[in-house]
Amino acid sequence: MLNRVLVVVPLGVAVIVITASKLPAQGGEPRVFTPSQAESAGIRTLAGRTITIYTDVPTSPEVDRLPALFDAAVPLWAAYFGIDEAKTAKWQARGYLIGDRRRFESLGLMPPGHANFVNGISMGAELWLVDQPTDYYRRHLLLHEGTHVFMASFLGGCGPGWYMEGMAELFATHRLEDPTSQLTLRIMPSSRNEVPMLGRVKLIHDAVAAGRPLSFEQVMKIDNREQLGNESYAWCWAAAKFLDSHPRYHARFHDFSKQVLDPKFDDRVRRELKDDWPDLVAEWRAYVAMLDYGYDFERGAVSFHAGKSFRAGDHLRAEIAADRSWQSTGVRLEAGATYHISASGRYQIALEEQEGTPRPWPCEPGGITIEYHDGLPLGMLLGAIHGERTAADPQSATFERPMAIGTQAIVKPTASGILFLRVNDSPAKLADNAGSLIVTIERP
Ligand SMILES: [Zn+2]
Repeated sequence: MLNRVLVVVPLGVAVIVITASKLPAQGGEPRVFTPSQAESAGIRTLAGRTITIYTDVPTSPEVDRLPALFDAAVPLWAAYFGIDEAKTAKWQARGYLIGDRRRFESLGLMPPGHANFVNGISMGAELWLVDQPTDYYRRHLLLHEGTHVFMASFLGGCGPGWYMEGMAELFATHRLEDPTSQLTLRIMPSSRNEVPMLGRVKLIHDAVAAGRPLSFEQVMKIDNREQLGNESYAWCWAAAKFLDSHPRYHARFHDFSKQVLDPKFDDRVRRELKDDWPDLVAEWRAYVAMLDYGYDFERGAVSFHAGKSFRAGDHLRAEIAADRSWQSTGVRLEAGATYHISASGRYQIALEEQEGTPRPWPCEPGGITIEYHDGLPLGMLLGAIHGERTAADPQSATFERPMAIGTQAIVKPTASGILFLRVNDSPAKLADNAGSLIVTIERP
């Protein structure tokens, strides 16, 4: 579920008030300077309710509304982390938005010990941002570092690296609707244009295409005590987004925020997810292989349920919904045996606006050969086998390497596992599908 708040952001030139100020001790050494020092260094002050930002970046409506953006995010962080708004009312964060590092260096305002940070850094209730070429990404960085300072201030810590950066990226990925300025955090971007320069979806896509996807366990080992590349941020975001949006994991993931001070945080995560762990790691592989803008987590969630083996002569009819991702047939296929699969039915694979009239695209299990997705006809029936050894077996059809079934197929699995089916479509475009198909599975 997404948090929403309506905020009216003033677009006029901010009133510049420069005062010598002190931070709570939590931020480490407070950086003290006088108004005249800042002014002579070309640094002005943007004052918000919960943050004061010092910057040398020229005035513009977008830059000057950053404190109001931060103010709008505070109640959203507070609601998610269960922090009483009365506690946040008196809270003050401090930010530095840096155009020319030398101006901030001359006043000793760079983060102690980390003056060469690349894009953003936070310490206690202070954050530093290097100015960015797009308005979206500048806001994204403020919300990313803002998540760190909020968690550090109110939870006392941010948890292990993957979770800390995953949460920061989760909250930073936002939508700010003009002209209402309604801010929504934790979004799944609907397109690349919505999040200019973010590139997280593409980085995952490229890593998977180059044959180096990270397993869920590998993401949990990402260590942010060293400078991370954008690809690591992309993996942390993908993991946090997956758990935050997945109907089976959402509630448990939310509760992890109460454990950020537990030195055995990761063990706790594994324990909480223990019963689902084999399904989770398999679905994770499918998710990163299919990740796309607008990914539909509700319809994209894999429907797992246990299966039974077939003896010779057995057969089963299963109904497969066109608007869902992988669905268990409940049939366990044995390595070396032969199975006949046939499918029939007519369902809707898309709904297209034509001259203001919605026009459904009908489809049968062979798919539509004028439109392709992932190299196979759109709407074609696909299969995957999910078992203990299928992922390691290069011959096996898996969630991330499905087999084409169409109207009929003969399947001889090389590793045993449950047969899953879905129709071929982007996980971002399941909402405009409708209907179902009937599949018959036989072991002759
Ligand atoms: Zn960070």
